[in-house]
Amino acid sequence: MKINVLKFGGTSVGSIEKIQSIAKKLVNRKKQGENLVVVVSAMGKSTDELLNMAKLITPNPDKRELDMLLSTGEQVTIALLSMAINALGCKSISMTGSQVSIKTDSTHSKARINSIDKDNMLNYLSEDRIIVVAGFQGVTENGDITTLGRGGSDTTAVSLAAILNASCEIYTDVDGVYSIDPRKYPKAKKLESLDYDEMLEMASLGAGIIDVRAIEMAHKYKVPIFIGLNTMDVPGTIVKEYDDNMEKKAVTGMSINENILMVSVSDIPFDASNVARIFSKIASKNIIVDMISQTAPHNNQINISFTVEKDDLYDLEAVLIDLKDEMPSCDFSFNDELIKLSVVGVGMISQSGVASKLFDVFSENNIHFYQVTTSEISISYTVHSDDLDRAINVIAKVFKL
Ligand code: ADP
Ligand code: ASP
Ligand code: MG
Repeated sequence: MKINVLKFGGTSVGSIEKIQSIAKKLVNRKKQGENLVVVVSAMGKSTDELLNMAKLITPNPDKRELDMLLSTGEQVTIALLSMAINALGCKSISMTGSQVSIKTDSTHSKARINSIDKDNMLNYLSEDRIIVVAGFQGVTENGDITTLGRGGSDTTAVSLAAILNASCEIYTDVDGVYSIDPRKYPKAKKLESLDYDEMLEMASLGAGIIDVRAIEMAHKYKVPIFIGLNTMDVPGTIVKEYDDNMEKKAVTGMSINENILMVSVSDIPFDASNVARIFSKIASKNIIVDMISQTAPHNNQINISFTVEKDDLYDLEAVLIDLKDEMPSCDFSFNDELIKLSVVGVGMISQSGVASKLFDVFSENNIHFYQVTTSEISISYTVHSDDLDRAINVIAKVFKL
């Protein structure tokens, strides 16, 4: 059975009218013989609203209870979309993550999918129903509801496509992947296609158009992804395995991550085991660390700085307070005024000169950067938020983005 998995994000299902308009298009596709599994997010900003309610009670809500709360957002949308499809005379059924049997580990708020049972879905598809699945949620072996991390509905969609051997279409509020977030640089160019590595790099460095884990999953199971506008009637961007027809530009795009925090830990006794201890404590809280730099030893002490996502501040502070008990000489500080800018392109593997061009651009325009890191296909800088717009404009111009 050929199946299409479609996903609609929060803005796309942000009102009853939008839900009804999507229902109409789904019914049309069903009438043309397609077997549809549709993944949806919570309506509009409702996940944020639920989160804010929890934060009125405590700044650090119990993560199991938070997952219980946040998962309700998607449940509202699946019921409404299913009703809208039924109202148009087409059979539909809504399913929670638990009903699909999306089994995850028990890392609440960042759970990983372990398995998915496709039998229930295949049965409903054989009854000619459009299946509407709640994105972003799963269930542990014990029956506890989990969520997959913010933006996790994309991961639900790609995972379902992988298990159902289906194609995956991600519909959102922009008509494809652009060289730069078009909200931040309206002159950005739409990209016809990208390979998984480029998309993964752009997403993990801050291009929030698609969840990083969704790309990882798509790459692992070789699921091509179409990303396009929720009206479903304009060409979008295809993300797939690299092929020779793809343009190998040194720089394909630029990602902007405004959600970072630079953490500095100073006066660490110079011993590799201390550095290992710091990062293993941070890793034990599932905090992702980036842009690590270390100073040369001075008076037998070193300083380390790195970036984390702002959302991890609460967990990170707990780790660092704990660390200070063990290493009383250390001090730590945070800088939340920095932004990470990254240029990405598979062509960087074989073409040199991108870093040197960027250093020139920064110097000619008097833009100060704090940290630099590189990977095979990207170069990232942290700059002050006051310099952001200028930096985007000059970099875009130099690389014709
Ligand atoms: P959804 O609610 O559909 O999941 P998101 O808000 O998560 O939508 O993702 C869509 C947004 O991604 C766009 O509104 C756009 O501002 C942003 N975005 C970031 N980087 C890019 C990029 N390189 N190309 C296109 N959109 C981008
Ligand atoms: N509703 C969740 C969020 O806002 C999941 C998603 O939209 O993908 O993060
Ligand atoms: Mg999203």
